[in-house]
Amino acid sequence: MVDKTIFPKCDQCGDVGCKLRSPGKFPRCPTNVSEHTLEEIKNRYQDEDINKIMQAGAETERGTIKMIDGVPTPIRPRISEIMAFARSMGWNKLGVAFCLATRDEAIRLIRVLEANDFEVHSIICRAFSITKGDLGIPDKNCLSSPLETVCNPVYQAELLNEAETDLNIVVGLCVGHDMLFNKYSKAYTTTLMVKDRMTANNPVGPLYSPFFKGILEKK
Ligand code: SF4
Repeated sequence: MVDKTIFPKCDQCGDVGCKLRSPGKFPRCPTNVSEHTLEEIKNRYQDEDINKIMQAGAETERGTIKMIDGVPTPIRPRISEIMAFARSMGWNKLGVAFCLATRDEAIRLIRVLEANDFEVHSIICRAFSITKGDLGIPDKNCLSSPLETVCNPVYQAELLNEAETDLNIVVGLCVGHDMLFNKYSKAYTTTLMVKDRMTANNPVGPLYSPFFKGILEKK
């Protein structure tokens, strides 16, 4: 009987045996603390929609990594992978949901997608110009005043739903707004970039730098 108060802690695993089909040496390995059987899990991936995505994912990965001088070497960036994945799925109508702060990147992306014959619909976060005051956001949480415009992620998703996009691509949506977009988008969503104001959009950079240690550990 599995103890349901014990949850997986893969971050504390020593050998990552799952990579070589030998998981379970660590007590809090998911294979030890979960009731899901391997058979059940494999069966789940027989679902037609899920399996199609997994097939396209494998095809995309295989097309990205080539053996060069005996070394597995990436030969294309994520933008190319997204396009390859979309082609593999038979998706041609793409949506781009972007932030005002990453408008330049979004425009560059859309030009690339269009040059590759994708039909692209795009919506900026400030579409409809709603304000923080409209949403009841108090003065203390505004940068200047409740009259400043606020992001509109739910309708970024709704308008792309109405356009019946096959796949949506997120470019730079804020923390929280990205969650609402992902929740309300009917099409599958992938993220090309996330916005990180402090690090010039390199969100994991602080994990490598001792200069950020004090900032990150401060509660
Ligand atoms: S799944 Fe198991 S073997 Fe793999 S990292 Fe997690 S604890 Fe380690």
